[in-house]
Amino acid sequence: MTALRELRGHEKIKTSLAGALVSNRVSHAYLFYGPPGVGKKTAGLAFARALLCSGGDGDACEVCDDCTRSKRGGHPDLHLIRPDGASIKIRQLREVCDGAVFTSFGEGRQVFLVEQAERMTTEAANSFLKTLEEPVAGVVFILVTDDPARIPSTVLSRCLCYRFNNLSREDVAKVITQEAGSAELAHTMAVLSGGSPGRALALLGGSAGRDRALEVALSLVVNSRRAMPVPPEEIAGREDAQEFVNYLTVMFRDVMIIQQTGLSELLINIDRRDDLAKLASAYDRREVLDILLTAEETARRLAGNVNQRLALDSLLLKIAGF
Ligand SMILES: [Zn+2]
Repeated sequence: MTALRELRGHEKIKTSLAGALVSNRVSHAYLFYGPPGVGKKTAGLAFARALLCSGGDGDACEVCDDCTRSKRGGHPDLHLIRPDGASIKIRQLREVCDGAVFTSFGEGRQVFLVEQAERMTTEAANSFLKTLEEPVAGVVFILVTDDPARIPSTVLSRCLCYRFNNLSREDVAKVITQEAGSAELAHTMAVLSGGSPGRALALLGGSAGRDRALEVALSLVVNSRRAMPVPPEEIAGREDAQEFVNYLTVMFRDVMIIQQTGLSELLINIDRRDDLAKLASAYDRREVLDILLTAEETARRLAGNVNQRLALDSLLLKIAGF
């Protein structure tokens, strides 16, 4: 677990939370909301650590006993609540809250971090509201959600709400550089992620999909007009097919950029620029535009209720030059 100061981005939120800690004006309930994968839970855990730190001044000090414990993930006053099956049930809230009352000593805080808070059942949300109506000194709830519209307005109105936005490409790239292993691959995944480090890491895990799409395009160029193209066997369902078309679209966008500008720093798939250059020399500009338009049409058809194989075939035939 990290400290608030180590988080990338979200500058205003970090400043505001640190300010509340320093002035000791901490609210009883917080709601961290915003798109998936941008660091809401990470921020919630960092804030929880700062709240529990006995030596800090607006953030975890990293030297006190509390910080040592929370760093290892085993602080007795930090309680994580996450869905049990599809929902967060009243039983879960009661268990953890009752337990907390019995173990609470002295003036320390008790912090409850509720993941996917939109999954609280109505009963759980009502019991939660009751807790907020009679707040216990030192108890802080941090609710985390991608979908605040599903949280009852009665709950929302009692929380201090912070909206987390997507991060800049640079920040996402910095967050995932170590996992990516190279700055170039980190850049590529940061661009494709649209500002979400969580999504970037997922893409990194699935970067085989991107490479597969590139291999297909390269092999179609080599075998141009000689063999009927076949979609890769790994493409099983609609989502696979959509992802495959997405990767092809992003790739041919890069090919178009090479053809029109020759500037490799503008590429999304900068780590594969040599392969992309091969594609750029194999097609003329009109063909690339044609492929991009067909890819767009294919994506639209896949989103509708069409035969997936037919939709993919027309795109692959176009790329193969038929
Ligand atoms: Zn500390």
